[in-house]
Amino acid sequence: GAARARAGLRRCGGSRGGGGGEAGQRGGRLTPRTVPTFDVAVVGAGIVGLAAARELIQRHPSLALAVLEKEQELAHHQSGHNSGVIHSGIYYTPGSLKAKLCVQGAALCYKYCDQKGIPYKQCGKLIVAVEHDEIPRLKALYERGLQNNVPGLKLIGAKEIQEKEPFCRGLMALDSPYTGIVDYKQVAQSYARDFQEAGGTILTDFEVTNMEMAKESSPESEDGLKYPVIVRNKKGEEISCGHILTCAGLHSDRLSEISGCSPEPRIVPFRGDYLVLKPEKCYLVKGNIYPVPNPRFPFLGVHFTPRMDGSVWLGPNAVLAFKREGYKLLDFSTGDFLDAVTYSGLWKLVLGNVSYGLGELYRAFSLSAQVRQLQKFIPEVTTNDVLRGPSGVRAQALDSHGKLVDDFVFDGAAGSRILHVRNAPSPAATSSLAIASMIADEVERRFGL
Ligand SMILES: Cc1cc2nc3c(=O)[nH]c(=O)nc-3n(C[C@H](O)[C@H](O)[C@H](O)COP(=O)(O)OP(=O)(O)OC[C@H]3O[C@@H](n4cnc5c(N)ncnc54)[C@H](O)[C@@H]3O)c2cc1C
Repeated sequence: GAARARAGLRRCGGSRGGGGGEAGQRGGRLTPRTVPTFDVAVVGAGIVGLAAARELIQRHPSLALAVLEKEQELAHHQSGHNSGVIHSGIYYTPGSLKAKLCVQGAALCYKYCDQKGIPYKQCGKLIVAVEHDEIPRLKALYERGLQNNVPGLKLIGAKEIQEKEPFCRGLMALDSPYTGIVDYKQVAQSYARDFQEAGGTILTDFEVTNMEMAKESSPESEDGLKYPVIVRNKKGEEISCGHILTCAGLHSDRLSEISGCSPEPRIVPFRGDYLVLKPEKCYLVKGNIYPVPNPRFPFLGVHFTPRMDGSVWLGPNAVLAFKREGYKLLDFSTGDFLDAVTYSGLWKLVLGNVSYGLGELYRAFSLSAQVRQLQKFIPEVTTNDVLRGPSGVRAQALDSHGKLVDDFVFDGAAGSRILHVRNAPSPAATSSLAIASMIADEVERRFGL
């Protein structure tokens, strides 16, 4: 620990001393031989990176592991800006990784929260058909859920809908009692504590800007062979690592590119804005109420979600954002904007979905248009009952044909030294413990741990 403190790197929380090598400082600046060393560094302290780091240190307690995070706090981006739903695994193609990881992950998530005393509510969810033409799709979802082994699913009619959600109207609903809610930031912070208690090091305010291989052919010390990947941050500090795993969410394509991997698939940010029900109207919603999703999009549609603090969020929509970490309607980053508009994949996506995209954009600005969507489910909600709430930004991977990438993408660089998790799609928060196990298997295979 003292070594890292001397090297001026900012650590988060306390842990046993970590780096495997000799760190120190001469004449007020780092010298190559004093650089902190780690066997494996995980870039990104979102829920996926933290879960993976936790799993790796539990499997390999003798290794020196670090998590590198650009923000001052953990789980600051997607993992701290989401709906907080523990999904039960209904939507995903049977047999797909997403389906398996979600069903496994939800069970692991409940068990983990029980073990750690993290509060959650298994408040259930209704996916509600409000139009006749949605009923066949709802029934197909039910079949999917059964194939995915989601517990407790049943189709219910209008009367039972009202018994469960007295203010919700609908023709038919898929009742998923296993769905729940939790604060994923709290879950991620708990993973971080487990990691640190097992001896792992978390360095915050460490924005990785460069990764390169030291010249393995002429190392001055054995460390040069053992820790050949030099990682630099924005402030010019560096560490040496044996291997790197990146789980960088909205920046996963950039980190891949930095290390010499293909720039594709690119990340396109989709902002999701929520409304919140005024406290005196929260009685209108008991559990999660979701629409039958549009099969053309990976997003689940605007929904009613109770939160652990007793509030109710409505949303999110899905609007192409002009800034990757822009949480406000008019946030703009020239770099992110140029990155997006110069990507042919984005144009193909936009041109193929003009009317949907414009509709979402209109609803993002118009409160009454958003409320009209919600009134299909709860007619009593009016614009006077809602306030503009927080937002989240989804890291949506997009290929050059304009196709949204729907499953995990791994990519490797520097021989077998660097592994990128380029796409960890929703519901990666629900699935985080199951994903961590899959990532750890992949890490062991590729890094030969
Ligand atoms: C609006 C919204 C609603 C959602 N709802 C749900 C839900 O209800 N249930 C569910 O299961 N899932 C939900 N999801 C999905 C879920 O939140 C994400 O899949 C999950 O949080 C992804 O975690 P992550 O660790 O991959 O990414 P992130 O949480 O984004 O973490 C990536 C981390 O990498 C860091 N990083 C990036 N670049 C660098 C760098 N150069 N150097 C150092 N650090 C770097 C970032 O700062 C960040 O902390 C939702 C997502 C959104 C956006």
